[in-house]
Amino acid sequence: VLSASQDFDFFYFVQQWPGSFCDTKHGCCYPGTGKPASDFGIHGLWPNRNDGSYPSNCDSSNPFDASKISDLMSQMKSDWPTLSCPSSEGLTFWGHEWDKHGTCSETVLDQHGYFSTALSLKTQINLLQALESAGIHPNGSEYSLRSIRDAVKEASGYTPWIECNTDSSGNSQLYQIYLCVDSSGSGFVECPVFPTGSCGSSIEFPSF
Ligand code: 5GP
Ligand code: 5GP
Ligand code: 5GP
Repeated sequence: VLSASQDFDFFYFVQQWPGSFCDTKHGCCYPGTGKPASDFGIHGLWPNRNDGSYPSNCDSSNPFDASKISDLMSQMKSDWPTLSCPSSEGLTFWGHEWDKHGTCSETVLDQHGYFSTALSLKTQINLLQALESAGIHPNGSEYSLRSIRDAVKEASGYTPWIECNTDSSGNSQLYQIYLCVDSSGSGFVECPVFPTGSCGSSIEFPSF
């Protein structure tokens, strides 16, 4: 019989702005390696279907094994930092992402391939530089959704999805940026479908 085939059509590659994770009413905690860089960090690489649904927690027999990515550790710590509390070294976050999302693309990317692909995608689009080139700076100023979207499209060639959250004063702010990746993880594509959720008319870009 055929082996289990992939049950997804593309990936969302999701990066988070640390300032917007930290300034909510929940706050954040820095990893033991200290305050992460003032840059976007990876949240995850999420298999998704063209109808908007997505598989999760696909293979409990293939749990996260940090020894499989020991050669990627320094880049993981700098490019995929964890900010949740209590403070951790990142293994909990990375393990959660592998177990929930990575196992659903394991026929395409094994554990090393999953993490190395995400790290490589991050080097292919410098989101902070894309925004700053368009005059969009993380200094607490407010920007339109269109200006943020256009800046990422200009730099990457692809239309992103912008996710906002709310700071502790209730302001809408730039939280995560989604780009779509083909089902083999080899490069960016136009999104077959976008997530949902709204941003305010004016979006804050807080400092970190
Ligand atoms: P939230 O409720 O914060 O939007 O999402 C919680 C978690 O659900 C995310 O961190 C992610 O693991 C997963 N998730 C949310 N939206 C999507 C989506 O559109 N596609 C996939 N694959 N996962 C999602
Ligand atoms: P998701 O299920 O949404 O992909 O992953 C979110 C989970 O990872 C949550 O349980 C959250 O507490 C944990 N987590 C650990 N570090 C971080 C972080 O830096 N950012 C986000 N968004 N979630 C984190
Ligand atoms: P349009 O694509 O016509 O500019 O936007 C259609 C609707 O989707 C508008 O309400 C707009 O605010 C929303 N929208 C478009 N792109 C994004 C995005 O990247 N993030 C969010 N949160 N909403 C968006």
